[in-house]
This record gives sequence, C-alpha cells and structure tokens, in this order.
Amino acid sequence: MRYIDAHCHIEDKAFNKNRDEIVKNAKENGVEIVTSGASLGGCRRALECKKKYNIYITLGFHPSNVRSDDKVVDEAYKLIEENEKEILAVGEIGLDIRVENKEKQEERFRRFINLAEELNKPIVIHAKGMERECFDIVNNKVISMYHCYSGDLDLAKEIINNGHYISISTLICFSEHHQNLVKNLNLENIVVETDSPYLSPIKGEKNEPKNVIKVIDKIWELKKDEYSKEEIIKIIYENTKRLYGI
Ligand SMILES: [Zn+2]
Repeated sequence: MRYIDAHCHIEDKAFNKNRDEIVKNAKENGVEIVTSGASLGGCRRALECKKKYNIYITLGFHPSNVRSDDKVVDEAYKLIEENEKEILAVGEIGLDIRVENKEKQEERFRRFINLAEELNKPIVIHAKGMERECFDIVNNKVISMYHCYSGDLDLAKEIINNGHYISISTLICFSEHHQNLVKNLNLENIVVETDSPYLSPIKGEKNEPKNVIKVIDKIWELKKDEYSKEEIIKIIYENTKRLYGI
C-alpha cells in the first residue's frame, strides 16, 4: 500500500448500501483506511468494520452530537476504554463554532483528551472555527491530528512545531485557502484525508477513501519544484504511520 486516508467515515450509514465496494475501491488503488467513529452507534459500526475489512479505526464522540445524553457519552467512553487495543487514536473529538453549548462541548473534549492521555494514544481533532481554542485546551498533553485543518498559517506552523499533525483534506482540490496552506508549509507532519462521505472533490458525488490520491496529486501540483511525486507519497505515508504508531 502507498497511501493512507488518515480520516474518513466508512462506518457512516451513507455507506450501508455499498460499503464493500468502497473498501474494495480503496484497496485496489493502494489506499489504506483509518475510519473514525463519531457517535456511540458510529463507534460500534467502526468496530464491526475493523473486523470485517481489516482496516484501522479511531473512536470518539463528535462535538456536533453535543445534544446527546450524558449517559450515551458515558457508554462511548466505556467502549473506547474496553477497545483500547483495537484503536489507533481517540477521535474524532473537539469543538465546533457552529454548534450550540460551547461549555458542554469543552467539558466533553477535555474528558476525551484525558482518556487519550491515560491510554497513551494520539487524538483526532475536529476544530472547525475553533482551532486556537483546541490547541490551547490540549496544551501539548497528547499528540494531536487536526482533521481537515482550516485555520490560519501561523497556527498551522505552531501546531507542527509542537510535534502535532495537520491533515489536508479533499477540500484542497478547490479551496484556495487550503492550497495556500500547503504552498507555505513543508511536508513535515502533514497527513491527508477524505473525511468520506463528506467533502467530495466531485460535485454531486459521495466522497470515498480512494480520492485521497487526488489530495496527493494536488499537493504535488503545488510543490512540484520542491519534491518529486514519489517523495510526496513516501513522506506523507510515513508521517501517517508515525502519527498513529503503525
Ligand atoms: Zn470526520
């Protein structure tokens, strides 16, 4: 395998009808999958996917599920603890500026950071619009991967200089902001993802892990002068393995 989609949601119900085909497409294109449970049901499905397809998983609880009952969060927490050996990281967890109840989001985020610290695992952060807040809350307690990083360049550099990771998503295929980030960073601690079924690079289609190759192609287009395509593929693959300890 040559590529790793560092963050997606193969367990998402959106793939109930064609999950086998989507995983096969990835494998045939040399793409390894890291799928991230984001709710209690999602975490359970991610565990089933790992068994069935032999893919990597992370388990967490998404800030957009802030309305979920505390009991549900307790169960997700317990599920993660019990499946410590099955997971690469805790996530996705974090904060989202578009979602209500920031206090509760933060309380739960802190709780899962502490769990990751206990389990000695990295975390996968959803930091939409609250990248700085997330960085301050984590306070270098655990290694963090900022999934679909959309913050500014200065913070991106600070994150990387502190040993954490920035994940570049399929948004780079059309977003100037993300293209500029990549132009101005070197490839140290950069990983790539699709966030499938979301963030499709093709209008009207569901995203899928094999499209992580499109992210690599775009990075190559932007950094042709500095790296060969082979170098980009190798560096990013190794960054991902280092992040997740695989
Ligand atoms: Zn996600």
